[in-house]
Amino acid sequence: MKKYVFATNNAHKLEEVKDIVGDKIGILSMKDINCQTDIPETADTLAGNALIKARYIYENYHMDCFADDTGLEVEALNGAPGIYSARYAGDSHNSEANMKKLLQDLEGIENRKAQFHTVFALIIDGKEHLFEGIVRGKITKTRKGTSGFGYDPIFVPEGYTQTFAEMGNAEKNKISHRTKATQKLCKFLKSI
Ligand code: IMP
Repeated sequence: MKKYVFATNNAHKLEEVKDIVGDKIGILSMKDINCQTDIPETADTLAGNALIKARYIYENYHMDCFADDTGLEVEALNGAPGIYSARYAGDSHNSEANMKKLLQDLEGIENRKAQFHTVFALIIDGKEHLFEGIVRGKITKTRKGTSGFGYDPIFVPEGYTQTFAEMGNAEKNKISHRTKATQKLCKFLKSI
């Protein structure tokens, strides 16, 4: 089976994507290729950041690969934190602090609409391809649930009453932004 490097240092993302693709494609982690670099995300779009990570692997390891970049876009905050989601409460990339800041910023605001937006960048034989996944929902007033990662305890997807962190991975992986983008990527790989 052909294998692709998933350029992420986030163990949760790796586990989610492996669960979503099942045995459709082979996935190598950065650890599998002995890459320990924390690739800087310096672009001003999700696609730009996903491309930076995928290009780093392609240029340094000459392997077909993909990367994702994800942002939580909150309507009442004009799309913030968006590409700054990981660093919302500062450079320490601390999910607890990020959620705390977001809940504070939304205090007293009734419009809780938000979406997770992810872009995957795939590089095969030097050619670049982008795939997008969005899941709409709303931000809760308090944290709920313990599974998942990042902002999962404060995000309830549309049509559901539980947060991603309450649902557990299997349910999250049926509907998430990352699932939608991953499915598009798999469909593309099947078509070539
Ligand atoms: P990045 O794509 O790794 O840069 O993630 C940006 C920020 O969004 C980080 O704070 C992540 O923890 C968070 N994040 C990314 N994907 C998810 C998700 O599926 N659920 C909750 N938070 C996420």
